[in-house]
Order: sequence, then structure tokens, then C-alpha cells
Amino acid sequence: MKLKNNLLFILFIFIFSKAYLLDLENLEKSELKKLLLGKIDPQNFQYFVKIPPKYSIYTNLNLYIESNTLEAFIKMAKDADNNGIKLFIVSAFRSFNTQKLIWERKWEKFKIKDDLEKAKEILKYSSMPATSRHHWGTDIDINSVDDSYFKSFNGIKVYNWLLSNAGKYGFCMPYSKKRNNYGYNLEKWHWSYTNISKKMLYYYTNLISYDDIKGFYGDFLADDIDIINNYVLNIDESCK
Ligand SMILES: [Zn+2]
Repeated sequence: MKLKNNLLFILFIFIFSKAYLLDLENLEKSELKKLLLGKIDPQNFQYFVKIPPKYSIYTNLNLYIESNTLEAFIKMAKDADNNGIKLFIVSAFRSFNTQKLIWERKWEKFKIKDDLEKAKEILKYSSMPATSRHHWGTDIDINSVDDSYFKSFNGIKVYNWLLSNAGKYGFCMPYSKKRNNYGYNLEKWHWSYTNISKKMLYYYTNLISYDDIKGFYGDFLADDIDIINNYVLNIDESCK
């Protein structure tokens, strides 16, 4: 009986530690590329977990997240709560297909004749499929993706708290300002868990090429725009 309990305990530790350790170095290259491009299935990916309804704004949606990122967010949200600040996750992992839906909806809606200009307009706030940090499960949108919320009394309080505290929990703000003609606009809601996302960025730069960024309207522009340098890598220094 004792032996059985011990074995169960060891099995439990094994499963638990596996789920909580995203070891990018030991992932198969093909699996790692799938992860970077948003092509894994979050329900069956051992390093991802479902966000407990308590920490998500949408209690009826299945939102997935990289497990270390969730742990860090929960720590931050609890401390924020003690300071009268409520933090919720609005968006975390997004698949290639979800990003493709967002992208192609805008592609059809935006009435701009020149394809390059149209892509750049969409890119002010939305990533091309296969280039979104949301694919990695390490990036979250907090409380609202509407700029007007962050101009409200509550939104300003939340944003100021995040600016002074999120770094302590390992979060950085990749889109902290508009960088040049290219690059996303400021996104006050988008935060990234650096312990994992810095590694993701490293592997992204080393493993992903324009041959991998395909399969959606206007994909031929990825190379012309140099999406990897002008967007994926065009982020705040604190996230690199
Ligand atoms: Zn975001």
C-alpha cells in the first residue's frame, strides 16, 4: 500500500513538473516551429493550461495560456487586488487560424486599393497570422483592448499600477510606443511574460523564415514588408 502511494506520488510529481516546465530547448524542432507559428492544439499541448474563469473576463470562453505565464499573472493579480486593482485576462493564446480569421476579416473590410497600404493599415493593431506573439501563450491582453478604457479613471489607475509593478512579476510591454513607419501602435493592454517569451523570440528569429509565413490573404507581402524585422523584432527593448 505504501509503495503504491509512493509510486502515485512520483507519478503525480512527474506529470505536474512536466506541465509546469516549458523546456523549449528540448522540444522537437518541428514541434517548436508549430508552437511559434500558432499551429499547436492548446488543449493537447502539455505546457498550456486553461485560464480559470476567475482570472478571465469571459467566463464562457475557453482561453488557453502557457502555464508559467498563468502562474505569474495570478501572483500579480492577487497583489494588485490587495491594492484595489482588478486584473483580468481578455485574450491569451490565439491560434494561427484565429489570427487568420481576424486578419482576413479586416482584409475584406478595409477598402484600400493598394495591398501594401492595406496590410500596413491592418498591422497598426493586428498581426499577420504566423507572426503574433499571442501564438506563444506567453502574451496576454489585460482588462480591455479598447484605448478609451485606458483613458477612463479606472483604466488609468490600472495602467499606472501595471507600469510600476508588472516588471516585478516578469511582464514587459512589447508595444510601448509607435516605433517608426512600421511597427504596431501603442497597446497599453498587451503584456508579455519575458521568462518564456524572450526565448520564443530567440527561436523565432533563428527558425522562422518567410516560407513559414503563408496561407492567408496578402501573405506575399510578409517578405516585402520584412515583417520579422519591422514587426516581430520591432518591440520594446525590455522584451528582447
Ligand atoms: Zn495582444
